Amino acid sequence: MPTLTTRWLFADQLGPQFLDTPDQPALLVESLAVFRRRRFHRAKAHLLLSGLRHRALELGEQVTYVRADTYDEALEQVDGPLSVVQPTSYAADRFVRERGIEVVPEGRGFATTREDFGAWVSGRKRLLMEDFYRWQRTRFELLMEGSQPVGGQWNLDHDNREPPPRRETLGLVDPWLAVEDDVDAGVREDLDRWVRDGLVSFVGDDGPRWAPVTREEAQQALAHFVEHRLRDFGPTEDAMLARDPWMAHSALSPALNLGLLHPLECVHAAEQAYRDGLAPLGSVEGYVRQVIGWREYVWSLYWHFPPDYRRRNALQARTDVPEWFRTLDADGQVTANCLSSVLRDLRERGWVHHIPRLMVLGNWALQRGWDPAQVTAWFHEVFVDGYDWVMLPNVTGMSQHADGGLMTTKPYAGGGAYINRMSDYCRPCAYDPKVRVGPTACPYTAGYWAFLDRNADRLAGNSRMRQPLLGLQRLKDREELVEQERGRGDSPP
Ligand SMILES: Cc1cc2nc3c(=O)[nH]c(=O)nc-3n(C[C@H](O)[C@H](O)[C@H](O)COP(=O)(O)OP(=O)(O)OC[C@H]3O[C@@H](n4cnc5c(N)ncnc54)[C@H](O)[C@@H]3O)c2cc1C
Ligand code: SF4
Repeated sequence: MPTLTTRWLFADQLGPQFLDTPDQPALLVESLAVFRRRRFHRAKAHLLLSGLRHRALELGEQVTYVRADTYDEALEQVDGPLSVVQPTSYAADRFVRERGIEVVPEGRGFATTREDFGAWVSGRKRLLMEDFYRWQRTRFELLMEGSQPVGGQWNLDHDNREPPPRRETLGLVDPWLAVEDDVDAGVREDLDRWVRDGLVSFVGDDGPRWAPVTREEAQQALAHFVEHRLRDFGPTEDAMLARDPWMAHSALSPALNLGLLHPLECVHAAEQAYRDGLAPLGSVEGYVRQVIGWREYVWSLYWHFPPDYRRRNALQARTDVPEWFRTLDADGQVTANCLSSVLRDLRERGWVHHIPRLMVLGNWALQRGWDPAQVTAWFHEVFVDGYDWVMLPNVTGMSQHADGGLMTTKPYAGGGAYINRMSDYCRPCAYDPKVRVGPTACPYTAGYWAFLDRNADRLAGNSRMRQPLLGLQRLKDREELVEQERGRGDSPP
């Protein structure tokens, strides 16, 4: 039997599937330089270190655990050949290949290989998530009856876009939340010391770790979601409530992205719940679509898009991301209730669900013409589930439209009316979502029109923007509105 190489496990490769056999020797590296280069959310640094250290404890003598400044310095301390499962970023991929480390080609944290996607995409005239999703459902036989979708429809989104109920919370039990242990206490001590010594700085609160960092914790979190929350997932998927940050979302993205759960195990568990009569089809289909559709699509597009994708700036957005946003409104300067609530939730947990990301945070950056590369880097730093592969398509593409429409057919810009319909943020807000100009003008509503005004020429050829641009032409207070928004500059709304 050939000797197995030592497997270098990156911090997002913490599940058992990243070893070829349970007793394969492993290398784990804690690099301080990773945290020095960027100003991460403290909860993210905590999660990654806690994950690495818990994995080291599980692997015991099988693991070489190196603490070093850079990866190169760590590698100097390691003997013998190394192998690594396909890293999840271009930078890490380049790093290991340049140093002659053997790369095991398949992703192992995903259900779709680059070859799978290559075969699907070849000869296609259009790239549509819906087409990809149906292909995934069919080849993995998920929610299928023969060649047809269970219930006769592929997409139950029309049942899943409801506004929130008129109460403060959905009234569900919280998602599975971690209980910290001695390893977490050690991580906290180290982070405090590094900050005190001026080696690193973070944004966000030092809240308790809530996301799983071990396989066992991740399995508990998945089982808890399927049993207690999946049935309510669908209808309020897009809704927001100021006092209910989790809504019925799974909060499993950190565990999935650390490699602690496999996407197929998540969707199989959800399908089983449907077949056992524990969750309705709308909710289960909605969840399956997110995991085996969106997540796999985003992962595949990361590798499929051309290497210059990260530098795209189709809307010529050049404004720097301001400090009050970078620090998650730590000084409480934001008046707009939606933005201040979402930044507070993000400060507390390093996580908010997909609609606050897209329609509150991303929408604001898009409206204000912030540099998409800076916005993408910011999302990467402050979200506990943020990694390069997930950021480029979601932020550069979907949220900031910097790719000019490769990812989505029109920019995700929206005014206060959308936020008002889908949340309870507007009622207590100092602004009025229906007002465009004046002291009570909603900055999202005014910002939407100012965005259209600034980009009218660039968007003129987009048929899906024809109606909004016609609306802009009909605005009687257009000049006044544009002047008002120019005056707002970068100040917190
Ligand atoms: C601007 C923007 C930035 C985002 N940044 C991230 C990120 O850094 N990391 C991340 O994992 N997701 C990101 N997403 C996707 C999505 O918002 C999160 O996956 C989701 O909110 C995580 O919470 P959850 O686990 O409760 O998700 P649920 O609502 O329970 O959804 C189930 C799962 O679907 C997957 N998923 C759904 N949509 C996407 C998507 N577009 N891309 C990747 N996975 C998806 C996630 O793994 C998630 O756990 C981003 C979306 C937008 C619009
Ligand atoms: S009125 Fe405007 S700023 Fe205030 S919460 Fe609603 S959308 Fe946000």
